[in-house]
Amino acid sequence: MISEDQPQSQFLKVSRLNSIKTKIIAFAVLAAIIPSVSMWWVSYVQNRRFLSEKINQELMDLTAQVSREVDLWLKERLYDVRVFSSSYVVSENLERIFLKDSKNVESGVALRRLMDYLRSVRGKFIAYEELALIDPRGKTVASSADQLSPIKLPDKWLGAAQSGKPIIGEPYQDDTLQKAVMVIGEPIRGAQDRLLGILVAKINFRTISSILRVYDQGETVELHLVTLQGLLIASSQSARMESGTLSQAAVRRLFAREKVPVRYTGPRGNAVIGTLKRVPQLEWGIVAEKDAEKAYLQIIRLRNLTLLLVTAVLLAIGLCAYFLGLAMVRPLGLLTRGASRVSAGDLEVDVPVRTRSEIGYLTEVFNHMVARLRQGREELANANEALREKNKELEQLSTTDSLTGLFNRKHLMEKLDIELGRSARYQRDFTLLIIDIDHFKRYNDTYGHLAGDEVLRRMGAILKKSIRKSDYAARYGGEEFIVLLPETGAEAGAQMAERIRRRMAEEEMGSDTNRTNVTISGGVASFPDYGEEAESIIKNADAALYEAKKRGRNQIIIAGDRRKEKKQKAR
Ligand code: GH3
Ligand code: MG
Ligand code: MG
Repeated sequence: MISEDQPQSQFLKVSRLNSIKTKIIAFAVLAAIIPSVSMWWVSYVQNRRFLSEKINQELMDLTAQVSREVDLWLKERLYDVRVFSSSYVVSENLERIFLKDSKNVESGVALRRLMDYLRSVRGKFIAYEELALIDPRGKTVASSADQLSPIKLPDKWLGAAQSGKPIIGEPYQDDTLQKAVMVIGEPIRGAQDRLLGILVAKINFRTISSILRVYDQGETVELHLVTLQGLLIASSQSARMESGTLSQAAVRRLFAREKVPVRYTGPRGNAVIGTLKRVPQLEWGIVAEKDAEKAYLQIIRLRNLTLLLVTAVLLAIGLCAYFLGLAMVRPLGLLTRGASRVSAGDLEVDVPVRTRSEIGYLTEVFNHMVARLRQGREELANANEALREKNKELEQLSTTDSLTGLFNRKHLMEKLDIELGRSARYQRDFTLLIIDIDHFKRYNDTYGHLAGDEVLRRMGAILKKSIRKSDYAARYGGEEFIVLLPETGAEAGAQMAERIRRRMAEEEMGSDTNRTNVTISGGVASFPDYGEEAESIIKNADAALYEAKKRGRNQIIIAGDRRKEKKQKAR
């Protein structure tokens, strides 16, 4: 079995980027991230646009209302001044002052009356910082102030006064009063429609501040009245009133893009969104602004929440993909390790099937394939073993005689050559013994061929029993046997032959009803006296055997004895 915590083999050294798991995770995350992020982006942009439009609408409504109020306020002030100037006290006393050269006393009285009038009017209306009468030369005749101070009149005031139009000055920062003020005036005409002078009023913007505060929606919106030149005339936040805290650049941008929301740094240094609406006929603008962060707080919260959700979804999908990848790669890893073991020659592999997927099926097929390989290898091993056995058998058959179990003639001849060579090399004794069964033909004829075979078998058994380990017995042919006796002289060889003869003679042969004994005759020839080669030594032994037969069988003759005998006979 393949265990999962086996060390990774060379086969599995796939780079991390190329692994199936990484690809699945990358695909899943991409597949999730692209639609969710784009959806999130589209909805965020859309929501932001809707909100922007809503905010802009709200700011524009406010500026339009406030602008109307400011317009109305100015008209009221101009009306006030006209009313003040049309007073009989004003025109009559001014006439008198112009005639002061003749009656000096009257002129002093007229001046005092005028001043009293201006002071009393000024005391009743808080919007007026100062009321003054100015003659057509621009000289202040009378004022509600205790000390006369020059009044900033617009450049073309005289022209306006002569044509009977109201004079409207630019707002400016009055250093003595420490606040923003503006000057408005109304011409005063005497008899024959003569221009006697103008009544000017230095007005503050306290009322406008109150108006702005009325429209200021608490914390969310701030309202400012600014001039084209960038002077902050009034603000709904009284604490910062009349301090030019709105930057010139912001004011310029607001004027340049009227009724369009502009993003800039607000008076408190925070990012704000504001729109401006011009006050009709004036170079003033009403700015309504909102803290950008607060305005978009809701949308930013929504965006963050969505981002959080998207991240959570991505995380979940990533995790799912990771486990899916793991579920695919694990069985593949097992399979690969199994394959690498098989390729290394180990067929005892059985990969566990952990999944019902295609990989599971592949694993089953793989296991089946390995089992088949294993079976094939076993069969091959068995066939090889059988072949080896057969070869051994064949070898034995080729060297042994099947009837007696002794070596056959062919093998004997090879062995004889080897033994003769060895004895010659080491100058050792060597003896050859040849044995022949006596009257075997007769035996066969009497007891049958099968009984004859039994005699041959018995002879083989006696030979095997009688010889030493180093000796060698073979069936030379028919009923003839040869025994090779290395390290043995002729005498010792003859003794061994004698033992064999006796044993054979003692064996009971024949049939159950007709018992008989079989005898053998033998010839002994030793090396090197009776032959240095196979042929000659066999020939000499055979001759000795012939001699034994001749002498009446059932005996052993040594080749030398025969020679001796011959010598003796010759003598
Ligand atoms: P001698 O004593 O002179 O050796 O006489 P013999 O009859 O033994 O010799 P001969 O050469 O005349 O006869 C040998 C016989 O051996 C003839 C043959 O039928 C028999 N023979 C040879 N091989 C076998 C065999 O394998 N089985 C049997 N049963 N008989 C065999
Ligand atoms: Mg024979
Ligand atoms: Mg014989």
